[in-house]
Amino acid sequence: MRLLCYRIFFYSIMLVVLGAVMPSLRAQDTTFPPRNGSPSSSVQETDHGSFVPMMFPVFGSARFQKELIDTWGDPRGGGTRRHEGQDMMAPQMTPLLAAFDGVVSFNRTDAPNAHNMLYLTGDNGWEAVYMHINNDMPKTNDGKGSREYAFAPNLRPGQRVIAGQFLGYVGNSGNAETVGHHLHFELHNANGPVNAYTSLKRAQRLTSARWNAPHPEILPGRDEIRLDATVRETQVSAGRISVFCVAWRNAAGKTTIETRPNIKWIRIDEKTTFVRLDDSPLMVSGIQPGDNLIIQAVAHEDVSGILARRISVDPTPERAAVANRQKAVLR
Ligand SMILES: [Zn+2]
Repeated sequence: MRLLCYRIFFYSIMLVVLGAVMPSLRAQDTTFPPRNGSPSSSVQETDHGSFVPMMFPVFGSARFQKELIDTWGDPRGGGTRRHEGQDMMAPQMTPLLAAFDGVVSFNRTDAPNAHNMLYLTGDNGWEAVYMHINNDMPKTNDGKGSREYAFAPNLRPGQRVIAGQFLGYVGNSGNAETVGHHLHFELHNANGPVNAYTSLKRAQRLTSARWNAPHPEILPGRDEIRLDATVRETQVSAGRISVFCVAWRNAAGKTTIETRPNIKWIRIDEKTTFVRLDDSPLMVSGIQPGDNLIIQAVAHEDVSGILARRISVDPTPERAAVANRQKAVLR
């Protein structure tokens, strides 16, 4: 009897251990192929392509081109080529989000009908390609959209992003000028494009963009806000800096991420303190367009601009990213 009890005890323990191990084994079934390697056989294959866990790359309720229809392989260009992606229809300037963690690179030209594209090289071994990114001024189809109407203001080539991070805006650039605003989304592994349909159908939809704020130790005071912003223009003699807002955090810790172009003036005066986060000395005149600022400002915002008490300055990410740029593989 005692032996039986021991056995029952032993098997109970084994079941508990197996129960704990099995889910992690199942989770590994969807392990991504190794970077630069051949696709792993453990990636789940479906009738509509490999299943890659991801965030849905368009904010809100974007729909597939033909509702619920897989357009992978459809003839395009009058039958001269096949459709190697999926099309998500959405209004102009709907925010685009990172499908997974990785490093971005992007193309933008100033030519009319510029084709704005973004590549996301994922830590998971996959690459996501975003096409037809906005190239127009808001509510127009003029082909004259400047950089801030294409990509997130703080985004630079070679930059690391997290899944769900705001990247840019839906548009109709390139050969979508007459088709309607949409994201053409491709998923690539080392062998080329695969059908993204299943991954998109099962992707997690977000209700707000995500972002890893740099220097989280910099907090707003009791009557302050922390504004993360990217420099657009400095007018030191006029006592102001024009910025693109990236995110706001209040003293209670509530963070709001901007996914619309939002330009503000920061008032600076002799009491405003500047601190450079890489420890090198900083003059106000040394602030450049593209520098990222962390601004601790008076919470009350008046019409004439934001009153900054202390401005922390990150070096221009573009300069910092030069060393990383070679790692972002363009296909
Ligand atoms: Zn397409």
